[in-house]
Amino acid sequence: MKCNYHNHTFRCGHASDTEEDYIKKAIAEGITTIGFSDHTPYPFPSGFVSDCRMLMSDMDGYFRTLLALREKYRGYIDIKIGFEAEYYVDYFPELLSEYRKYPLDYLIYAGHYIGHEGREDCFCAFDSTRDEKRLVQYVDNVIAAISTQRYSIIAHPDMMNFVGDLDLYRSEMTRLINAAKELSVPLEINLNGIRDGRYYPFDDFWRIAGRVDAPAVIGFDAHCIAHVADKGEIAEAMRYADRFGVRIIDEVELKNPLI
Ligand SMILES: [Zn+2]
Ligand SMILES: [Zn+2]
Repeated sequence: MKCNYHNHTFRCGHASDTEEDYIKKAIAEGITTIGFSDHTPYPFPSGFVSDCRMLMSDMDGYFRTLLALREKYRGYIDIKIGFEAEYYVDYFPELLSEYRKYPLDYLIYAGHYIGHEGREDCFCAFDSTRDEKRLVQYVDNVIAAISTQRYSIIAHPDMMNFVGDLDLYRSEMTRLINAAKELSVPLEINLNGIRDGRYYPFDDFWRIAGRVDAPAVIGFDAHCIAHVADKGEIAEAMRYADRFGVRIIDEVELKNPLI
């Protein structure tokens, strides 16, 4: 693997090590493109503060730090600046206006929450559910997000923890995977799921991805430098992909989120 597009920083409140530590580690491991995709700030109304993402006021420091490091390490490694971002349709236009103040390279879609964070009808994709409406809402949201053509990768597309009717799960995820393939947005086998022994990567999801031949990346989802390019973890993810015939790609053609 030469490219790693999924790395967090201390600004989200649950990652450690400095950006420069990540970059040095990536160079030492032979990574040629490193992308930072910290949890995006969101312009929430009415003073709601999320507990898993940077604040809007942190954006300046994020870009200033990474732009300086891009210059310092030019010729050694290519540094991309992005965000891992949910698609909250009501807040997204204002988020884009904030993004336009900066040279943002890419967005990774993440469906940690469905509905709008801070609202009563919001649900967390980690929470197991048999609710079929939630499953459909999850898939609808992924498709709406990637249909904007602003997202370059779908992080942990199998994060929806649906434990109900497996036939419905398969048909909904087929819908998601077909859309990803059609819109040229790679799926992601998430190493956080593998290293923590979570319920994802989820076999039924990846069996469909292999059959549909939708390409996928290995998502490092690094929250410290030990996660930047661990060869053992990468090998495990590759074996997992092979089991289901999933086609792994390394370099991703990044879509401009500011079109
Ligand atoms: Zn995530
Ligand atoms: Zn992440």
